[in-house]
Amino acid sequence: MTSQRTRERLVQRLADKGVTNLQVLDTIRNTPRHWFLDEALAHRAYEDTALPIGYGQTLSQPYIVARMTEILLGAAGGRLHRVLEVGTGSGYQTSVLSQLVDEVYSVERIKPLQDKARERLRTLGLRNVQMRHADGGFGWPEAGPFDGILSTAAPRFVPEELQQQLAPDGVLVIPVGSQEQSLTLVIRDGDSDKFITQTLEPVKFVPLLSGTTR
Ligand code: SAH
Repeated sequence: MTSQRTRERLVQRLADKGVTNLQVLDTIRNTPRHWFLDEALAHRAYEDTALPIGYGQTLSQPYIVARMTEILLGAAGGRLHRVLEVGTGSGYQTSVLSQLVDEVYSVERIKPLQDKARERLRTLGLRNVQMRHADGGFGWPEAGPFDGILSTAAPRFVPEELQQQLAPDGVLVIPVGSQEQSLTLVIRDGDSDKFITQTLEPVKFVPLLSGTTR
């Protein structure tokens, strides 16, 4: 089930669907997605589908993880030093990011999910990740500014706080909307207070819930 061949088939599928960044494809190939799921679902880890992780949340579809990561890396001028992730969930996207950038800061509002994710990253030996139990809609001001921000939960509008925590030329990749959502790319224009927003493909994410943690 977790054989190299099964993983290879997933990577091929992502490439067929248009993911071209080889670093991203390599990282997906080398990341054990089955570790991020409960045992009962682990046999489906290398299918290109979103899967439940409890608390009404989901581990995103591999294609979406690959696309968002590819967009983030592609839109950034050079190597990303400091990246904020909103919505740690299982920690799968966190672990993909941590292999491609220098430092990852990840915020999750559901404590048990965060605790499990932290344990998985520790087991995988990924040490460049800091986690915080908080409402990620407000970002992580003390750790910013960030060269990149990636949200895996969808707010109705781009949160002003996240934009403000972008470093010069920083890049934000975020699903936006409620019933209908679009993957959205926001880039800070140099060191100005101007932001360039681009609407990309339609997506379906869990909502970014604000004002509460549990
Ligand atoms: N990247 C995750 C996807 C998890 S789904 C993975 O690879 O598994 C999105 C996550 O965002 C959920 O865990 C949800 O609890 C979290 N979330 C939703 N609103 C949030 C908020 N305001 N602050 C922090 N996390 C939030």
